[in-house]
Amino acid sequence: MRVCVLASGSKGNCTFVEGENTRILIDAGLNKTEIENRLNTIGIEPSSIDSILITHEHSDHIKGVGAFARAHKCKIFAHPDTWGAMQEKVGTIQAEKRVGIFGSNFYINELAITSFDLSHDSAHCLGFSVHEGNKKISTATDLGFINDTIIKHLADSSLVILESNHDIPRLMSNPKYPLYLKQRILSNRGHLNNKDSAEAVLKMLGYGIRGLIAAHLSEENNTPDLVMKALNDIVARQGGELAKEIYVDIAKQHKVGNIYRIKS
Ligand SMILES: [Zn+2]
Ligand SMILES: [Zn+2]
Repeated sequence: MRVCVLASGSKGNCTFVEGENTRILIDAGLNKTEIENRLNTIGIEPSSIDSILITHEHSDHIKGVGAFARAHKCKIFAHPDTWGAMQEKVGTIQAEKRVGIFGSNFYINELAITSFDLSHDSAHCLGFSVHEGNKKISTATDLGFINDTIIKHLADSSLVILESNHDIPRLMSNPKYPLYLKQRILSNRGHLNNKDSAEAVLKMLGYGIRGLIAAHLSEENNTPDLVMKALNDIVARQGGELAKEIYVDIAKQHKVGNIYRIKS
């Protein structure tokens, strides 16, 4: 199994996941050409994408969905509430390419997918785990808070892509953000802050997680250094050392990320 975050952040999200015989995207929040360019960068023919899983209808997750689906053979998987909410934005997509996520477990060829609910200011928001044999990776971004149910879905994955959106003091002191927007981001239906994200990672250590990609960083209210500091501090407070516990990478907005090969 291979995984690569093609883009992450409020200007567009897209993650590539590849099984033995199946290639999928989780979200398609860049425009079609940009997604194709980024796939080409890692040597993947865009027309070889089997399916796109949609987390929720915000434009940074669906911008390229309609055009990509019309240009290629791929199917689109989304929760029925998400289909309703993104209908107009994605335009016409052939009926046979539209798939509703009704249950939380389903297959895309050999890939077994589990979806789980996240709290966010959208019609519905999903996190996903992708399993192939005993290999598992999970993603959870765009969530106002994290709880033990979500942590359970993530914790036994080899690689977790988890939101670390903002540093609270930096957000609060940002003069460019009006109060209502700060409140929206901080709310239970907003985005996960560095501290809550780091606390969740601490809880996961020891359950099989080997790698973390901190994702959906705000370019305004966060920096990779602040994310690393939150993680380092929380592990150090328990007497541990982050680098000995887990490999950490930071997903980028403007650059294709590293390609990870998941062995088990
Ligand atoms: Zn988003
Ligand atoms: Zn969102």
